[in-house]
Amino acid sequence: MFKKILIANRGEIACRIIKTAKRMKIKTVAVFSDADRYSEHVRLADEAVYLGPSPASQSYLRADLIIKACKENKCDALHPGYGFLSENSSFAESLSKVGITFIGPSKSAIASMGDKIESKKIAKSANVNTVPGHIGIIKNKNEAIKIADEIGYPVMIKASAGGGGKGMRIAFSSDQVEDNFERASSEALKSFGDKRIFIEKFITEPRHIEIQVLADDFGNVIYLGERECSIQRRNQKVIEEAPSPFLDKKTRQMMGDQAVQLARKVNYSSAGTVEFIVDKDKKFYFLEMNTRLQVEHPVTELITGIDLVEQMINIAYGKKLEITQNDVCLNGSAIETRIYAENPYKNFLPSIGRLTKYNPPKETHHLDGTITRNDTGVREGDEVSIFYDPMIAKLCSWGKTRDLSINRMESSLDKFLLEGIDHNISFLSAILANKRFKTGDITTAFVDEEFREGFQGIVPNKKLEWTLGSIVLAYHICEISKNFEIFESDQISDEWEVYLYYLQSSQNHSKLKFLINKANLNLPFVSIKPMPNQITKGLNDDFFTIEVCQDFLTKLVTFKINSQDPLIEPKNIQCRVKDKNTNIEFQYRGITMLANAYPKHIADYHKFMKPKKNLDKSNLLICPMPGKLIKILVKQNQIIEEGQPLCVVEAMKMENTLVAPKQCTINKINYKEGDTLSVDQVIMEFSFK
Ligand code: ADP
Ligand code: ADP
Ligand code: MG
Repeated sequence: MFKKILIANRGEIACRIIKTAKRMKIKTVAVFSDADRYSEHVRLADEAVYLGPSPASQSYLRADLIIKACKENKCDALHPGYGFLSENSSFAESLSKVGITFIGPSKSAIASMGDKIESKKIAKSANVNTVPGHIGIIKNKNEAIKIADEIGYPVMIKASAGGGGKGMRIAFSSDQVEDNFERASSEALKSFGDKRIFIEKFITEPRHIEIQVLADDFGNVIYLGERECSIQRRNQKVIEEAPSPFLDKKTRQMMGDQAVQLARKVNYSSAGTVEFIVDKDKKFYFLEMNTRLQVEHPVTELITGIDLVEQMINIAYGKKLEITQNDVCLNGSAIETRIYAENPYKNFLPSIGRLTKYNPPKETHHLDGTITRNDTGVREGDEVSIFYDPMIAKLCSWGKTRDLSINRMESSLDKFLLEGIDHNISFLSAILANKRFKTGDITTAFVDEEFREGFQGIVPNKKLEWTLGSIVLAYHICEISKNFEIFESDQISDEWEVYLYYLQSSQNHSKLKFLINKANLNLPFVSIKPMPNQITKGLNDDFFTIEVCQDFLTKLVTFKINSQDPLIEPKNIQCRVKDKNTNIEFQYRGITMLANAYPKHIADYHKFMKPKKNLDKSNLLICPMPGKLIKILVKQNQIIEEGQPLCVVEAMKMENTLVAPKQCTINKINYKEGDTLSVDQVIMEFSFK
């Protein structure tokens, strides 16, 4: 076996590969940039080599430095992880020239599958179903329109060299082809240094389902079932699962067979993934083949019990696959949620900064038979920088059934403590709680359809609202009791009002009334009764108790609710609770609310308070993301129609066109082309007739 391998990557995937290598008693060499000097992957590896400055182009993408590090540290092999140099065929070739094994497929397989046009041609010749469309380069706008008209709308305009969800646009009409063609092509040139564009049919109500394959150098090719990756935002995966709740045995087998045919056609060896798009009638079409370890590979490992990194290493060493197709059985259900440093309330804007608190749930086999796995590459105190992918962790759950796996994921997300940066945990919880997700009724349009106005947090239903109101009150009673030297129940009122304000949401607030049973206060147990109608005093029965358990390490508060009241959910609720000025912020599964509890005699004064006015910002064009103003499309005093493009802001290599919300006149333009903008800066001011 290899004695020592170099891992040409960073973050969670470098840590993941090191773990398996250690188990196989192979020494590991990490590489790092300035930003990663103290990173987890550097700490885990046996040795580490400094590459250069933080930008990937000066460190993780420097093939020459990486090959030099392999030679100087006497590595027999290199694992590229995903991203960076993993799908760079000339890198694989240079390695083999100096006698270092590339843990991945051959350079020719990488090259032919790396190009979307090329791979589609090969797939077709291997009798794999491909998306109807034009398999060839499109020269100009007019040709694009002609081809799109022939294919029939909607169509997808794609960059041949595209990846990671970048460089594709949908067009519903020839006008949109005209608009999008050049933009897609300039975006492709910027992101991939290659402006070739092709067009294919846009499959409606599509699901993204991909097949994991494993192949060795002896012509053995098997598939390890599928992963469903339909939950995407901006064409990028956020939640993946295996098996797909949609596939039947027969479709799975047909897809698996085609994936194997394609792998054979290119003499594939190593782990690889064949991505398909599946329509509502279970017709499936080849999208692309990823010739590397995929981000979401853990869900396959959880249901098959096969370590894909170990298989890749063995295959690269020249071993025969020991597993046959008949050995592969799919057991239970696994889900992965990608925890990103990004703001889900602001169109998933990446967030950077220091992880002031980082405490993920423990990786373990739980008593109920479920499993928690967390692939991560950061520790508390680390910095999430602008230089690399904003993914912080991949939280996975496994259960005998999909429901058990979902439940486990929901409570693991509750426990995940992350502070210092914006993150998407509330968004992930909201998806897990969604009815369509729970029943497996998903497509790649799920996020857009379920969060039409963008993600605004969740507003609870009546029952959950009363439940949350009661835990707010229980928490408040426990808190104020700490402030009295001797707890005197005299100072505690019987009647209370609880105010809940939902943040992020357009729906504003609600006011709930409760009674507490002072005679039965035995902290941390609080006796509460919801009063949906009128306060009726004196009834001491039908109070229920809430036990308030605070964990100072994880900052989690668990409320154990023992209730038979039909208005209240009798369950345990785990929340994050934070002081926010005079209010308390509660976070629970996609719900973020500011709350406060007042004794009735104080609450009564609220009617004398002036209502807060919301500033009207509808006459302002506000910059939604940090970026560069690359085009201004209007002039001062110009009259503008609804939906007319106003300007283009480039951010994260994407060109974003901002349009007029309704008919208006441009009063003022505050910036000029080339200016750098930050979030919430006012680009233009309008007036309406
Ligand atoms: P797909 O290519 O189908 O979107 P994935 O979702 O597995 O597949 O990966 C998303 C893309 O982003 C891939 O092209 C991958 O190479 C890249 N990528 C993801 N995470 C990282 C990372 N931490 N560093 C570098 N590249 C990454
Ligand atoms: P990437 O290399 O960026 O991963 P893919 O070709 O794999 O690009 O496409 C990424 C995602 O875009 C898919 O998972 C799917 O959601 C969507 N998509 C791509 N092509 C089509 C299509 N023809 N019809 C509908 N959706 C598509
Ligand atoms: Mg893809």
